[in-house]
Amino acid sequence: MGSQGSGKGTQAKLLVKEYDLQHLETGGILRKIAQEDTKVGKMVDTLVNKNGEFVPWSIVREVLDEAMDAMDPKRGIIFDGTPRRIEEVHYWEEKFHEIHSKFDFIFFIRLSEEESLRRISSRRLCKDNGHSLIFGKDVHSEEDKCPTCGSVIYRREDDSPEKVMKRLAWSKEILGPVIEHYKNAGALIEIDGIGTVEEIFQEIKGYIDGVK
Ligand SMILES: [Zn+2]
Repeated sequence: MGSQGSGKGTQAKLLVKEYDLQHLETGGILRKIAQEDTKVGKMVDTLVNKNGEFVPWSIVREVLDEAMDAMDPKRGIIFDGTPRRIEEVHYWEEKFHEIHSKFDFIFFIRLSEEESLRRISSRRLCKDNGHSLIFGKDVHSEEDKCPTCGSVIYRREDDSPEKVMKRLAWSKEILGPVIEHYKNAGALIEIDGIGTVEEIFQEIKGYIDGVK
């Protein structure tokens, strides 16, 4: 788990590589569904892209069921973007009970709201290859091209300041109880989100390798 803009997705990808894990990423799955020309696709698109809102639990539940069915339970899985609300905590508790498994580590990468807002507002993507870019570092004008492939750049619709503010408020309300839950259970490992990608990765790796 992570605050908005904490680099949670980047860390997840690094961990997938490092430990040969399977990647269950709800945000990515939902974004894919949003592109589909179906009733559910249009609904998710409106919620996520147009309004910057969270998708109802009934849909997320189906997404998780399907994603989990596609996983090999004998191989490790990184859960990226779930649990993000208390229903998902209960969902995973039930699910893991059935298959006699559990979360080995629960990480939360924490960032202040100001830093979240600053970071997300400066995120850009390149159109052709989805390269992640940072405004003010990788590119300096909206007319700049992707330094890696020369493609045009854009800001994800849900990364506009208004939508980010909305998501930050939601996060506090929805993700807050999840964090509290794991904190009270003594299972939460909090990681300071300030630092380079490599520094944060090494810190997480330290926890994982330390108990091996
Ligand atoms: Zn590119």
